[in-house]
Amino acid sequence: MLTKAPKGTRDILPDEIYKWYFVEEKFRQICHQFGYHEIRIPVFEHTELFQRGVGETTDIVQKEMYTFDDKGGRSITLRPEGTAGVVRSYIENGMASWPQPVKLFYDIAVYRYENVQKGRYREFHQFGVELFGAADPSADVEVISMLHLFFNRLGIKSLALNLNSIGCPTCRAAYNERLKAYLRPKLERLCSTCKDRYERNPMRIIDCKEESCRSELVDAPALLDYICEDCSRHFEKVKEKLSAMGIVYSIDKGIVRGLDYYTRTVFEFVSDTIGSQGTVCGGGRYDGLIEACGGKPTPGIGFGLGIERLLLQMDSQGIVIPQPDPPDVFIGVIGDRAEQFSESLALKLRTAGITCHKDIMGRSVKAQMKYANKLNARFAVILGDSEVESGKVELKNMVTGEGRDIHIDTLMDRLLKSRQGAV
Ligand code: ATP
Ligand code: MG
Repeated sequence: MLTKAPKGTRDILPDEIYKWYFVEEKFRQICHQFGYHEIRIPVFEHTELFQRGVGETTDIVQKEMYTFDDKGGRSITLRPEGTAGVVRSYIENGMASWPQPVKLFYDIAVYRYENVQKGRYREFHQFGVELFGAADPSADVEVISMLHLFFNRLGIKSLALNLNSIGCPTCRAAYNERLKAYLRPKLERLCSTCKDRYERNPMRIIDCKEESCRSELVDAPALLDYICEDCSRHFEKVKEKLSAMGIVYSIDKGIVRGLDYYTRTVFEFVSDTIGSQGTVCGGGRYDGLIEACGGKPTPGIGFGLGIERLLLQMDSQGIVIPQPDPPDVFIGVIGDRAEQFSESLALKLRTAGITCHKDIMGRSVKAQMKYANKLNARFAVILGDSEVESGKVELKNMVTGEGRDIHIDTLMDRLLKSRQGAV
């Protein structure tokens, strides 16, 4: 127990963190380009927020939340997704009076008690955006086009964009009756969660992952065929605009998405190269959510993008993420005097922005150079008494093995120049 992390969690170790930095940086860049600002929300919230904001009949709330009482007796839940917390913050901080629309992004860890498998963890990470205040199809299209560009920039090719509309509460009421009529004779064969959903929110049954339920749903009526005129017009506009921008999509009438307050446009970016957990990103419009959480009726749209699945996707396509630059120089030392001198020298070099390593283990010169090799340092110098006295050192190019005698005072300048390709 002590030396094994809890099931479904994983360490991100130094040898892969550069991949995370890379995609995080690209995500931040694109968010800024599209006018989004970062929001950092708490890891935990009052449980009621997720019950309300994600929805009582969702898999997340019914099966997957990490919920506990704190020492003050409050029911607390580790965030299973980002939207509810951002919506809570929107209301709490009066963002309705900010210039509209309000565009927020986040990069967070989330927690779900799930069946662990490849691409499905209990602690995982999401990029997400939330756009509040814009009801127009242009908002839907802007959000989708941002993802389209993001994936393109990362060199990701094989992600299909699947699109659906799940209407509004008005059209859904009629659809729910239709779906209930279809499911009535099958009710006994549904899982216990879906039996409960039958009265409370029949549409949720469409999203059930249980095989027994899935097989009962093959001929189920599709919500898209029942949406009202306004919703239909909205959806037509979204499709028209996407086509005009050259963004390819397919209609998937089966997408209902995991949150209860989605309305109208819902979409997923799905991979066919990373196995059964192939949904890399899911999103949609949630015009009822802010009101459901206690704010004024406000339209919203956003997405959540699984970072682990994004990296799996890039890996499966053989996309190489650039490794971080190697250290500029390693300073080897022999003796106390050189040690003292090299500490000041290292500080001077680091002050100038040079990446510099030096021995701090009191090792032999041979061991120090072995270490310099392991670090992939581009250059090395070895300082002993005579080098400190004369100011002359040999600057060794660790890639070519060539050595060159230089004056120690020129070291910094040479290292800086070498970065521009001139040694
Ligand atoms: P799924 O159908 O795979 O369970 P979901 O509908 O529950 O996904 P969302 O709540 O929409 O997923 O989360 C957005 C994204 O987060 C998903 O598209 C996926 O990339 C990622 N994701 C969801 N659950 C997990 C998990 N347990 N481990 C890793 N990534 C996940
Ligand atoms: Mg899920």
